[in-house]
Amino acid sequence: MEIKFWGVRGSIACPGPDTVHYGGNTACIELNIGDPDRLIIIDAGSGIRVLGHDLKERGLLRHPLVADIFLSHTHWDHIMGFPFFDPIYLPDTRLNIYGPVTYEEESLDKIIGDQLSYRYFPVLHSELASKLDYHQIGEGELDLGDGIRLKTKYLNHTLQCLGYRFEYQGKSVCTAFDTEPYRNLFAMPPESPDYDPVTAEQGEQAASEENQRQVDFFRNADVLIHDAQYTREEYDPSKLGWGHSPFDYAVDAAVKAQVKQLYLFHHDPLRTDASLSALEKRYQEQYAGDSYPQIAVAREGVRIRL
Ligand SMILES: [Zn+2]
Ligand SMILES: [Zn+2]
Repeated sequence: MEIKFWGVRGSIACPGPDTVHYGGNTACIELNIGDPDRLIIIDAGSGIRVLGHDLKERGLLRHPLVADIFLSHTHWDHIMGFPFFDPIYLPDTRLNIYGPVTYEEESLDKIIGDQLSYRYFPVLHSELASKLDYHQIGEGELDLGDGIRLKTKYLNHTLQCLGYRFEYQGKSVCTAFDTEPYRNLFAMPPESPDYDPVTAEQGEQAASEENQRQVDFFRNADVLIHDAQYTREEYDPSKLGWGHSPFDYAVDAAVKAQVKQLYLFHHDPLRTDASLSALEKRYQEQYAGDSYPQIAVAREGVRIRL
């Protein structure tokens, strides 16, 4: 298994002198599993444009390109690069595109394809030369063939969003973006007239069970790539409910799940190279030692081999 980061940002692409080191493209990860031709792409943020160029350089576009694209969800930062992914204009390309849908009245192909309408773009989805097959998926398990198993789990985001766990020959890589900690939705101060201790206790238990299910999903993964958009100070309380995790929650989940390597991902566009580097150093120092995961901030261009 080989993993490569092509886009590590959340929300919006943010190129500039302060993001040169970690990169400014939005979410896109390449997985090569087993057979070197088996190409899996997770999310189609602006990073997928650069991946398309790289596939050409590697000569892969000289042959029919077959790939699976797994979309965590359809927020714009995770699909905005799709119209700029060159292989979709080549007649030999065949893509299977998987993802969850929140609004059942609209299908996945319509949600993705509407980006390619004259309102937004000069080429129509129906004009693309490639063959695209869309698959709406939810929580469960999929056999991807060639010995690759995929497990999926809903995350805590503002719409249906899937975490993925790819398993191959005893190795596993997990993704969890975009997500935030489950919290007690019935929490209120005891002095409030509507306070009900039973409801408050049930809410607390439900949140804790959901957070535990998330940890179970990550359990013993070789690599976990987790949302870490905010610092604790930014998250609590002003970004609560925005669907993203603070750094310390991502680290805590990885420690509890005993994953081997944690990559902090979906960086806020405000985060500069200097601030990401300082946060990386802080968590590496705090969790030094064999009993903790190796912690790194995800950076464009980095390759991980398992
Ligand atoms: Zn996002
Ligand atoms: Zn999102």
